[in-house]
Amino acid sequence: SPIPDFLDATLERHRYDLSGATADYIPDLAAADPTKLAICISTLDGVEYDSGDADFEFSIQSMSKPFIYGIALEALGLPAVLDKVGVEPTGEAFNELSLDKTSGKPLNPMINAGALTVHSLLGGEGATLAERTEIVRAGLSRFAGRQLRVDEHIAAGELQEAYRNIAIANMLRSYGVITDDPDEVVRGYINQCSVLVRVKDLAIMAATLAGGGTNPLTGERVLSPRVNRQVLGVMMTCGMYDAAGDWMTEVGVPAKSGVSGGLFGVLPGQLGMATFSPRLDKHGTSVRGAKIFRSLSADLGLHIMNAP
Ligand code: GLU
Repeated sequence: SPIPDFLDATLERHRYDLSGATADYIPDLAAADPTKLAICISTLDGVEYDSGDADFEFSIQSMSKPFIYGIALEALGLPAVLDKVGVEPTGEAFNELSLDKTSGKPLNPMINAGALTVHSLLGGEGATLAERTEIVRAGLSRFAGRQLRVDEHIAAGELQEAYRNIAIANMLRSYGVITDDPDEVVRGYINQCSVLVRVKDLAIMAATLAGGGTNPLTGERVLSPRVNRQVLGVMMTCGMYDAAGDWMTEVGVPAKSGVSGGLFGVLPGQLGMATFSPRLDKHGTSVRGAKIFRSLSADLGLHIMNAP
């Protein structure tokens, strides 16, 4: 197959782009090796093509948000979750202290306000931190098709600097959006962000969404088709935060970024893909990852709005 050579060549085209900077507010991410570079593409039958540091593990960060949204939707049903978190893009940064002016809800589950709220719903009223963390770990593992784990060191470091997320959680509590202890919700959400993955895992997780909710490796149905569609719709409109419109028009692949430098994209009915490179742009998206997505979209005609 010519695909591995093509992926090698694509990485080489972008390898020496040193622009951007690693996330500075999470100690382990600030210290990450910025030379790491990887890509993986998975077909809907779980055949993977990769290049670069495809076995390197990093924290999932905000890339957990669409999957955990799906898990919450499966557990609680669409109406119960929509009652708490909307589906409108914000055009704001991921960590904005914002609520919808009329409804008083977080605008969508991809920004931190929405993701903290979704996290607080896991396990139902009164669930403990340990229970929520395990729901997250086990749930993300079902998408990946292997057992994932929380990196306690990354979580502890992020917690020490979590002033912004603690502020958001307190705002949510004061408006009655979350009913639990805000500090516990932040701890659980940070554990969620600290689950370790490789681009190989992210490509399978993305391929699970591309295949309508069925994991291509294990054959397990992780999400129902309706929930899967909901997750992809929200990812398409809100996944790239304040760069969502630019991303959708230029790249045209529903995607989610994380401040660790990971990025994954979903082409429904076709493939899942993921990249890793730690230096970020001002939106918190991997610089080289975004460039690789742009070139693959152009070279392979991946834009979902391309006329046939
Ligand atoms: N743990 C990070 C935060 O909440 C995730 C942000 C991201 O990956 O975009 O600030």
